[in-house]
Amino acid sequence: MKSPIHGPSTGKHKEKQADTGKVRMEVTHGKHIVIIGAGIVGASLAYHLADKGAKVTVIEAGEIASGVTATSFAWINTTCGEPDPIAQLRREAIKEYHRLEAQLPELNIRWTGALSYGVGLDNVLHDPARQLTRAQILALEPNLKQPPQQALYVAQEGALDAVAASRALIAGAQKNGATVLTQTRVLGFQTLHGKVTGIKTSNGLLAADTVVLAAGTGIAALTQTLNLPLPVEASPCIFIRYKAPPDRVQTIISNAAMEIRHTADGALLAAEDYLDDSPENQPAAIALRTAHAIQNELEGVDFLEPELACVGLRPIASDRMPIIGYFPGIDGVYVCTVHPGVALAAIVGRLVSEEIVDGKVSEALAACRPERFCLDTPSA
Ligand SMILES: Cc1cc2nc3c(=O)[nH]c(=O)nc-3n(C[C@H](O)[C@H](O)[C@H](O)COP(=O)(O)OP(=O)(O)OC[C@H]3O[C@@H](n4cnc5c(N)ncnc54)[C@H](O)[C@@H]3O)c2cc1C
Repeated sequence: MKSPIHGPSTGKHKEKQADTGKVRMEVTHGKHIVIIGAGIVGASLAYHLADKGAKVTVIEAGEIASGVTATSFAWINTTCGEPDPIAQLRREAIKEYHRLEAQLPELNIRWTGALSYGVGLDNVLHDPARQLTRAQILALEPNLKQPPQQALYVAQEGALDAVAASRALIAGAQKNGATVLTQTRVLGFQTLHGKVTGIKTSNGLLAADTVVLAAGTGIAALTQTLNLPLPVEASPCIFIRYKAPPDRVQTIISNAAMEIRHTADGALLAAEDYLDDSPENQPAAIALRTAHAIQNELEGVDFLEPELACVGLRPIASDRMPIIGYFPGIDGVYVCTVHPGVALAAIVGRLVSEEIVDGKVSEALAACRPERFCLDTPSA
């Protein structure tokens, strides 16, 4: 494929440096914004940035949602058991998905609610409004063989098909003029006088005013080329999809034995911890063990046939917090690595688009800034 070379933006663009402590803001009305990565995070950024009228190009090494998004359990899980520096993001995540769903009904979110017990959420169980008794649990999930005495029920939560959602967001961005280049790998950056001017790709050079890194686990390698590698690890987790009898569960169930939910087409999805690389802990073996666990937990599950069992690599920073904000030392590079990425994609997409296009600093992202890694000034 011949590389499309975009020239630098012309026109009169206002640029300002807001006095926001450590956060540098660059207002980018009318500029060319390149997003690296078309997982659910990059797709949401593309949608929100294009919706604001920005000139957007998405560059993806594979296909849309071919990274970890393809193997996500995709629960819009907003509950956190610990003191939570991103509580505001989680609080607003569901509302933001309702907003997005009104604009893009094809997101098709299944707002089933989620039932959790025996998974270290004791401090949130004190909220009586979200606590169910055994009888209430059975009314909700009549197929549970061993319902607990109490459980946390978050009626507002749901889940989506993360691949379909990413495609819908990208299609929405394209309707607003975004360009999407798949099978194109970003190899590095072009910089001049401490400012990014473009990217080097497997198909040639591309000029850019702002580059947004939504490359999932690829962010460590990309920031390495800027001499400031961010500590984003590839954290394995096992994804399983079963052919299953219909309507065995109504909600998303998370307990010590299993984390499961039905998909819109009736399959049963499970997410399991990755243990190690030994033969007995390969995804296929875990899928069989998990099938037994599910059969022990649910009535009427005579067959559970694994259709897919694989490891997905989640991009998780060393402190397990999202990394969102302008990259220290190089103007025009913005980093966006989010965990949990599906749950927070809608809210993060909106807030980041406001920061990049409008220069509106988000207090909700204060704990996520890349500066916390105390990076030195680069020599890119
Ligand atoms: C089993 C499992 C269960 C999960 N369950 C949940 C859940 O219930 N809820 C939740 O919120 N999250 C969950 N997650 C995590 C969630 O899936 C991720 O947080 C989210 O998908 C991350 O999206 P992303 O867009 O950042 O990354 P990705 O989907 O990996 O997208 C990044 C993209 O960047 C591209 N890329 C990388 N490097 C380059 C480069 N140099 N040039 C061009 N393109 C590049 C990749 O090809 C990729 O497509 C789960 C993950 C797993 C594995």
